[in-house]
Amino acid sequence: MSAFWSATALLPAGWAQNVRFTVTDGLIAGIEIDTPARPEDQAHQITLPGLANVHSHAFQRGMAGLAEHRGDGAGGASDDNFWSWREVMYRFLDRLTPDDMEAVATMAYAEMLETGYTHVGEFHYLHNDADGQPYFDPVEMAARIAAAARATGIGLTLLPVFYAHSNFGGQPPNHGQRRFIHSLNSFAQLLEACPTLLSPGDRLGIAPHSLRAVTGDELAALIAMHPQGPIHIHAAEQQKEVQDSVAFSGQRPVEWLLDHVGLDERWCLIHATHLTDAETNALAASGAVAGLCPITEANLGDGIFPALRFLEAGGRIATGTDSNILIDPAQELRGLEYSQRLAHQARNVLANEAHPSVARRLFQATLSGGGQAMGISPGLSIGHAADFVTLNPAHPALHGRKGDQLLDNWIFAARRNCIDTVWKRGRKVVSGGQHFDSAAVTARYLKVVDRIMCE
Ligand SMILES: [Zn+2]
Repeated sequence: MSAFWSATALLPAGWAQNVRFTVTDGLIAGIEIDTPARPEDQAHQITLPGLANVHSHAFQRGMAGLAEHRGDGAGGASDDNFWSWREVMYRFLDRLTPDDMEAVATMAYAEMLETGYTHVGEFHYLHNDADGQPYFDPVEMAARIAAAARATGIGLTLLPVFYAHSNFGGQPPNHGQRRFIHSLNSFAQLLEACPTLLSPGDRLGIAPHSLRAVTGDELAALIAMHPQGPIHIHAAEQQKEVQDSVAFSGQRPVEWLLDHVGLDERWCLIHATHLTDAETNALAASGAVAGLCPITEANLGDGIFPALRFLEAGGRIATGTDSNILIDPAQELRGLEYSQRLAHQARNVLANEAHPSVARRLFQATLSGGGQAMGISPGLSIGHAADFVTLNPAHPALHGRKGDQLLDNWIFAARRNCIDTVWKRGRKVVSGGQHFDSAAVTARYLKVVDRIMCE
């Protein structure tokens, strides 16, 4: 594809009509507005920039739905929480081979593209074999992630995870965590081998798993090991984690990070659900991104992120699909706004003066925050990746809608079949809402499900 034309397109300056993009080597080389389509152009009606999914554990797509019934503990609903979900996840992991990992990740990434994500941040922590031994090749599993991204066409920010402990204070890891564990030395070997896995436009960052799994000294060593690029960490997802942090250091997790590592634009704090007002304001001022995962946070019963205060303080946000229980950026943004409506008993909570449309405000915020957290340049500008997402103009929910109303309807009112085509670096990877290799990807995935669930 060398030129792409759209009747309406969302550019950094706002909605524009009759927009023609020329594309060279997968990047946008030129943009003209108010110009007719030429016969050779790929012509569409409604075009958005592709979004980044900043937080995925791809293998968890394979266990989606397996933890949605009450456990048999005596405590009833109080027994079912993040920590009991984690036990189901650990058991699922026991059986996952490198081939399985690649098949499940390929399925998850194809679904991401089909829903409008063009880039994924893979918070990759499944490193070792089922016995907890390192594979002969330190990037055995990371290579499967990269292969899945390459096969589907999605952009990748690979975030290899350092995971060493079961709780604050450097406590030894437990049996369920054996496939995640590294020493600083073995992690350095992994990190050194990762650049060879990347495709054009991909990025490499690091992910100290959490302050539960990484000591302060290890965190400092990791930052020194990778002096540039994104740093992602889970923080303050659960009240118990906050209590354990206070018991250990006298500080809450985000408070500790603000005081000890100097959070800045390289950082993305995943969840950051439980914040005091002071932490909320300081995190916003730091320039770090809050990587919110509204569907997973609701699914796991984590709590509600103080999004209104954080955005009013100038905080930067992005969204991620985390457990991949359900993959859909429109639902993530809708869930974020709905959580605030329920908490504040008000409507259109996250809109502001510049953007009276909540959908537009959240789309813009997560587009730019997502780009920052992934280390890529987001949006439809010259020199940026030609990542186009077109909406289906025949969808009843979009009928007669214009400008921000298109986003309002996609995010709040469209259910499914709203995405028509997706282009990654100028290559069409989704048409009619379906990934180009959907049938084969799904068949391979189902074989894994059959083997792991039914053997
Ligand atoms: Zn996560």
